[in-house]
Amino acid sequence: MEIYQLSAQQILERIAKKEVSKEEVFDSFKKRIEKINPQINAFISVTDYRQENIRGDEGRLSGVPIGVKDLFCTKGIRTTAASKALENFVPPYTATVVKNLLNEGAIISGKLNMDEFAMGSSNENSFFGAVKNPVDLEYVAGGSSGGSAAAVAAGLCPISLGSDTGGSIRLPASYCGVMGLKPTYGRMSRYGMISYASSLDQAGPLARRIEDLALATEIMSGFDEKDSTSFKSEEKAFYQKLKADSQFKVGVIKGLDRLNFDPAIKTAYEEFVEELRSKKIEIESIELSSLEHTVSIYYLIAMSEASSNLSRYDGVRFGYRHDFSKEPPGSLEEFYSKTRGEAFGKEVKRRILLGSYALSAGYFDQFYQKASLLRRKLSLEIEEAFKKVDLILSPVSTVGAFKIGERNKDPLKMYETDQLTTLANLTGTPAVSFPLSQKSKLPVGIQFIAPHFKEQSLLDFGLYLQSEGLIRSEVQDVL
Ligand code: GLN
Repeated sequence: MEIYQLSAQQILERIAKKEVSKEEVFDSFKKRIEKINPQINAFISVTDYRQENIRGDEGRLSGVPIGVKDLFCTKGIRTTAASKALENFVPPYTATVVKNLLNEGAIISGKLNMDEFAMGSSNENSFFGAVKNPVDLEYVAGGSSGGSAAAVAAGLCPISLGSDTGGSIRLPASYCGVMGLKPTYGRMSRYGMISYASSLDQAGPLARRIEDLALATEIMSGFDEKDSTSFKSEEKAFYQKLKADSQFKVGVIKGLDRLNFDPAIKTAYEEFVEELRSKKIEIESIELSSLEHTVSIYYLIAMSEASSNLSRYDGVRFGYRHDFSKEPPGSLEEFYSKTRGEAFGKEVKRRILLGSYALSAGYFDQFYQKASLLRRKLSLEIEEAFKKVDLILSPVSTVGAFKIGERNKDPLKMYETDQLTTLANLTGTPAVSFPLSQKSKLPVGIQFIAPHFKEQSLLDFGLYLQSEGLIRSEVQDVL
């Protein structure tokens, strides 16, 4: 096998046996990036092995190159959030989750493309251009962590970092045929992660094999005094405790048909449920009556929080500023409006405007408050469901990967793709996307949600599915 086809575990074994050096591993991935990236546009920046700031100590990931979504601050390495606003921003510090990986020997091989400020479901909203799906270049890679999913799928790195506010790890993972985990809200520190919607944002890993996913989850997790929402807990030995386990009661959502499904996705999902039944996995129907409202609740809350978080990009202390050298601004308002008008893309502007509207006096009760109440109702429904089952299964999305340009004219059509993923963000529960063993040309993913802090169940069941060959784990070697 070529180095780019190996998992992190296999790379670590080869390094330990001295069959290959860390520098050779890094360089072979770099060559692979140089060959494939011009076709898929997954990386925004690529590093060099001699750079000091791409490595930390020695540890359990020594010599494994990782791709980092360009949303995580990396000291001395440009971090853009795929926005013109931060095109030349070089952070003075590193995000905690990245630091945790560097402390265990991982090496940053580059920064990955994404939707601008993580706002999108197809990675078409990037200032640096769309990411293309490595399985078919005419199709989207999914978003917003499209670079993270495409890079792992095409063997440009064995593990990548993504972020998930409403599905941004799971959706691109499913479109590209890799796995991705969104942890419980509070499991991983958000320090140094550029904020989109703070009550929903979580970091998480993408990989091709459960063992790699578990190791990255274990290393990235943990309390951080720099993030007051991070959770104090000692139980995070996900990799050490990993064991294939099929003893879970799986819940399937009653009446999923009320959502508007792409027939091919529905069939793939139903076949998978049948496969589980034939393996004697216990399956039970559960009720989630607020499910069809998740998109409305999510977008109201996410846009409101985004409008507040993005107010910091005013061009005063850092980030893009309109060139006032020829004509100074007539007022402070003009300074802001010219700067911000040029710095943000269309979708980001739309969200700032809608979010500000929803939060404005007189409308607050009608929109934000109402969405928050429904969010609570959703949490109660999911709590009730978890009294009956251990895991909740569903497709990742109602639609599969679509062609570039097919959905981005109509924002509501784009938002529809997030009906099933936003559920986990709104309720703070951990969730994974696993790639079904590929029967059709384009990959399809399935989602499992677990109760708070039960990432171990997701990983243990994942290892069982992987060992039974029910989910795929190879590089998409089509390019
Ligand atoms: N597609 C969703 C949005 O645009 C989710 C994005 C994300 O998880 N960052 O808000």
